[in-house]
Amino acid sequence: MTKEAYDYLIVGSGLFGAVFAHEAHKRGKKVCVIDKRAHLGGNVYCKEIEGIQVHQYGAHIFHTNDEAIWNYVNQFVAFNNYINSPIALAKGKLYNLPFNMNTFYQLWGVKTPAEARIKLQEETERYGTQSPRNLEEQALSLVGKDIYETLIKEYTEKQWGKPATELPSFIIKRLPVRLRFDNNYFNDRFQGIPVGGYNRLIDGLLAGVETRVNTDYFADRAYFDALADKVVYTGKIDEYFNYEYGHLSYRSLRFETEVLDTDNYQGNAVVNYNDKTVPFTRIIEHKHFEFGTQPKTVITREYPQNWDMSKEAYYPINDEHNQHIFKQYQTKAAAMPQVIFGGRLAEYRYYDMHQIIASALKTVKMTFVD
Ligand SMILES: Cc1cc2nc3c(=O)[nH]c(=O)nc-3n(C[C@H](O)[C@H](O)[C@H](O)COP(=O)(O)OP(=O)(O)OC[C@H]3O[C@@H](n4cnc5c(N)ncnc54)[C@H](O)[C@@H]3O)c2cc1C
Repeated sequence: MTKEAYDYLIVGSGLFGAVFAHEAHKRGKKVCVIDKRAHLGGNVYCKEIEGIQVHQYGAHIFHTNDEAIWNYVNQFVAFNNYINSPIALAKGKLYNLPFNMNTFYQLWGVKTPAEARIKLQEETERYGTQSPRNLEEQALSLVGKDIYETLIKEYTEKQWGKPATELPSFIIKRLPVRLRFDNNYFNDRFQGIPVGGYNRLIDGLLAGVETRVNTDYFADRAYFDALADKVVYTGKIDEYFNYEYGHLSYRSLRFETEVLDTDNYQGNAVVNYNDKTVPFTRIIEHKHFEFGTQPKTVITREYPQNWDMSKEAYYPINDEHNQHIFKQYQTKAAAMPQVIFGGRLAEYRYYDMHQIIASALKTVKMTFVD
């Protein structure tokens, strides 16, 4: 391989890397995408099991309010009309989410928005505080005790591995309540799952682009740096700088996937398990994302867990300590024009898919003058 064989070496084939690669390739640039995993696509990767697209790194539901982003992804793959309507199992009863008239009926037996409004007002006036100091006080102020204790407390504590009184209030800035019988989790105009799975989206984005899997940038970064004029780096920012200012922390997940000899296990793609006596937070039944009619089913239990270097980094811990570390890396990164840092790991930020695509397209706009 000669020096500077490529215009761009892209580290990471997740949505950020794939969108950037597509746009650079479209503009005639020579691009190579490497990924240390055995497959392309980052966290949206799907593995086919029993003819079912299994979301390997957690359930992914595409939603956006931005028509341009919706049209962008639809160039590569058609999306079905899946609407996310999760169910919660708490203390032996099923509840609809997000909090809406169905939930209020299930909790309190109220049948009209006026009755629900009165009940919610009573609850928040009775249990709320003026300036909530932690997640528990915040939730009580927003929705009152019944909803908090039945549908928020134990789930959130499992998710973060800490008592709600020790979690910062900013984790739940808002808890939208909907006074309509409407179980659609998202308010966005566009929503769905790629027909045939997310790999089709990634394959479409990376068509014609050179890719190499099982290839870790850090196995020989001098070699990879020498391959291209510029590097687009979508891995962990602390790793890029050799942890000079310390390690950034994450929350991780463990997935337990099982094939079951039944065509329909839980009747819904997503069922949350709220009780603390159950160690997992949700069960995903993947076939329901695509209205599958296969004779078998595949389910995944999601167990939140503490993160260490041997585990996948899923959710950044955006507390002061980690932000302080991140800012130092960010400053260093900003002084390196030959490297573009982007994506959830390099920006140490939780992004939904539509946001990561928007962010990659913004980076493209700043990089190329069309
Ligand atoms: C559990 C979970 C559920 C989610 N659900 C939704 C959802 O329902 N809807 C939604 O819109 N969004 C969802 N998201 C967010 C979505 O996953 C992200 O927005 C998106 O995947 C981010 O893309 P990315 O390219 O930034 O990162 P990633 O997809 O993580 O890609 C980064 C890639 O870089 C590679 N890499 C890292 N370091 C190196 C290295 N040294 N050498 C080579 N390769 C390297 C990694 O292997 C990885 O493939 C969810 C996220 C999680 C964690």
